[in-house]
Amino acid sequence: MDDVDRWGDHLRKASREAQGHPELLVLSSPIERLWARTISLVFPARCALCDRIDTPLCKSCQERLNANTLSIRIKPPPPLNGAFASGYHDGELRRVVRTFKFNSDRYSAAALAVYLSGRLARILEHAQWKIDTLIPVPLHRERQYERGYNQSQLLALALAQRGAFDVSPDMLIRHRATRPQVGLSRADRLTNVENAFRADPTLAAGRAVLLVDDVCTTGATLAACAAALLEAGAARVYAVTVTAARGLL
Ligand SMILES: [Zn+2]
Repeated sequence: MDDVDRWGDHLRKASREAQGHPELLVLSSPIERLWARTISLVFPARCALCDRIDTPLCKSCQERLNANTLSIRIKPPPPLNGAFASGYHDGELRRVVRTFKFNSDRYSAAALAVYLSGRLARILEHAQWKIDTLIPVPLHRERQYERGYNQSQLLALALAQRGAFDVSPDMLIRHRATRPQVGLSRADRLTNVENAFRADPTLAAGRAVLLVDDVCTTGATLAACAAALLEAGAARVYAVTVTAARGLL
């Protein structure tokens, strides 16, 4: 069993145990947690927006961001059955998402996931979708190993805890490594992720699933995920993301 497999096992266990304790989403052993606390005394986390210390996103910045929480209906890229985002991919929300994705230690990433999942939960209150399970958009194993966590998986787990949903991290895999989508045209993005995902029919058949991701730029990745899930027999596929590019709407 390699590190990524162990990480997947840990996340499944942690999603059951971590109610109210986001650090349990990412730090698998007591020694790791003790080490993280020691590190945080020497290098305290800083608010992604105002630089205040001891928190990856301070209360007053959260309140300011919450004033702008939106339920943006994205024109669903086929074959998705519906898609929403909690804000536009610009300004302060974009900065928080980038910190969540690229600059975080795992502890801070988990804390940001807890905040961002609250925005997604507000969308689900309005969307009126009947959902059986949440699916994080998978990273390729090598990319996940490099980064140490899959930001979509953290989001899905934090959202599952709020809404008592199941998470099915094994239903969908990214079996082909793809180039980063950043900087590619819409057409190139579609080609880049085409057939990159594969879904397990024994898990997907008849299920209504919700894809969870941080950003929706062109919808190409979500569309490729939805195509794989529907081909494996999923009944319906919806998506929520924290942000969406303005051009999509
Ligand atoms: Zn702040």
